[in-house]
Amino acid sequence: MIIARSIDDLRAACTGPISLVPTMGGLHAGHASLIERAADGGCVVVSDFVNPTQFGTGEDFDLYPRDLDADAVIAAAAGASVLFVPTLETVYPTGFATTVELGALASQLCGATRPGHFAAVATIVTRLFAIVRPVRAIFGRKDYQQLIVVSSVTRDLALGVEIIGAPTVRDPDGLALSSRNRYLTADERSTALAIPRALDTIAAAYVAGERDSAALVLPALEQLSAIPLDYLELRNACDLGPYEPCQPAIALVAGHVGKTRLIDNIELAPDAERVSTKEFA
Ligand code: AMP
Repeated sequence: MIIARSIDDLRAACTGPISLVPTMGGLHAGHASLIERAADGGCVVVSDFVNPTQFGTGEDFDLYPRDLDADAVIAAAAGASVLFVPTLETVYPTGFATTVELGALASQLCGATRPGHFAAVATIVTRLFAIVRPVRAIFGRKDYQQLIVVSSVTRDLALGVEIIGAPTVRDPDGLALSSRNRYLTADERSTALAIPRALDTIAAAYVAGERDSAALVLPALEQLSAIPLDYLELRNACDLGPYEPCQPAIALVAGHVGKTRLIDNIELAPDAERVSTKEFA
């Protein structure tokens, strides 16, 4: 695996069709699964850049895990051809003044408490696509709203990149892997387990035939009583529009455990077997 720091190094390192896995580093088995999904014989580029513009004031930009050596080991083992570690100047050259403007979804769910976050994500993803020129890009379903935003930007701006949403990787106890889990103390981690358990409760009721949104959400809210929530919502899984009982649905949650903000979701398909958060362990 080559570590490329400039666009020239990146271009020199890649021949053939490129698959891109954008990350902010702090790599774990969830990122590795995306890289493995990308590995199909072509060139697999993993970008590793903590994007300052997508963090709000008072968020964890300074604390965010940065360990290039550890990232390189994980990326190489998962099959990356190139680890692209651009400088701030490469991503945002002097004079950079463009932000992608998004539709209404960008100010809902995570966008309601993180104003500007998805516009910043859409902007860097668009720029990474232009720099890396991939044929496909792999994103995690763990960040489902991000996946939907990136899919719509790619479609609306005809960016010509196939977007693949890969399943959420979880620890055996059900907690979705996240670079931010390393902030959690042991006590906070056990508190955080209420999140996958509450999502499992919703999935179990849904599979048993419950379709009423209050009946689905209220028991889960009780399970989450120890976690200050930004939201727990049911939505249409296709575009995150309003929940419709006859469409594939999704339950999404964001909450604060200590100083750590965690998000998770579970997809609910009308005809599917129960999808437990533990199945992806
Ligand atoms: P991040 O480095 O947190 O920005 O994440 C980079 C990519 O990895 C995004 O597409 C995330 O959705 C994905 N990702 C993060 N955690 C997981 C996970 N537990 N399972 C699958 N994908 C993940």
